Amino acid sequence: MVNNKEENMEDKEELKFPLSFDQCPNCGSERKIAGEILKQEKEKGKISPGVKAFISTSNSVIADMGRTWLSAPIISTFYDVCGDCGTYYCIHAELGIATPQLGQQPPQVKGFGGN
Ligand SMILES: [Zn+2]
Repeated sequence: MVNNKEENMEDKEELKFPLSFDQCPNCGSERKIAGEILKQEKEKGKISPGVKAFISTSNSVIADMGRTWLSAPIISTFYDVCGDCGTYYCIHAELGIATPQLGQQPPQVKGFGGN
């Protein structure tokens, strides 16, 4: 049987956001520095269950800055550090919509990064 997926083997699937990476790309560990501390704080009841933790985050607007634009995709990425080998890696990526006014600000990201 040949289906469309096999015919398009060379085309990689389109990325589907949000993307999450739970394992260290270097050693495969799931232990993360911020994630482990967060877990401890949750166990103490100091942080609500739904809150996520990360070491740093960045936002990238994908737009032609040489033109006037009203909205553009903005990618928010969140990073943590592997607790076993120290690798700094992306643990989560969200896709949002930026406007020129919001372009310099972090977007509202639901379910990640707290309130
Ligand atoms: Zn690692």
